[in-house]
Amino acid sequence: MDSDLLEVARATKGFMPDDEGLALHAAGLDAGRIGPLLEVGSYCGKSAVYLGAAARERGTVLFTVDHHRGSEENQEGWEHHDREVVDPVTGRMDTLPFFRRTIERAGLEDVVVAVVGYSVPIARVWRTPLALVFIDGGHAEDVAMNDYEGWAPHVLPGGLLVLHDVFDDPAAGGQAPFHVWQRAAAGGFQPVSTTGSLRVLRRAR
Ligand code: SAH
Ligand code: MG
Repeated sequence: MDSDLLEVARATKGFMPDDEGLALHAAGLDAGRIGPLLEVGSYCGKSAVYLGAAARERGTVLFTVDHHRGSEENQEGWEHHDREVVDPVTGRMDTLPFFRRTIERAGLEDVVVAVVGYSVPIARVWRTPLALVFIDGGHAEDVAMNDYEGWAPHVLPGGLLVLHDVFDDPAAGGQAPFHVWQRAAAGGFQPVSTTGSLRVLRRAR
């Protein structure tokens, strides 16, 4: 991956170590040959830089869906809260300005398309077949399952489904993404690789 873009990704707020980010980029390069990429959970744009870099290399685009109000686990009092991303006017989280700064800094404004809204209603009206869907939105059981049900049908045959924060040991982290992985693996997606908590599956051709 381009070293300037890697630096931007590293400097961006978020929870994705280098090895997982590079595995995500590699998945984007693999899938980007057959169509556009889509991410659920933009946050401040860290993972969008890894995927956006791949989309640029393949001459395609990355759609990235987020309401930018934070997941349950990002709210005040929870483990992953960051006070800097609270809008001082409304007191609510707003990561969209941070996201835009990241994509500008990365020079990816012509490649990364922000879709600002709730994942499920967008998935319901979505019509563009996708080469890769990366699910990293809310990690509550129902939220993660709804994202899977909404977006998995849009993955092209031979395309990739990528899940983040998958922990098979409950002591290591929440189980919802692992349950989604189990469901995908039983539902037409073949496990391809694991890098830390990042898991890649491929849809049968
Ligand atoms: N992929 C990012 C991190 C995403 S954090 C990175 O690696 O940098 C999870 C994001 O999912 C939060 O920004 C939150 O606002 C978003 N989110 C949670 N539930 C959502 C929903 N139902 N629709 C859209 N976005 C959602
Ligand atoms: Mg994550």
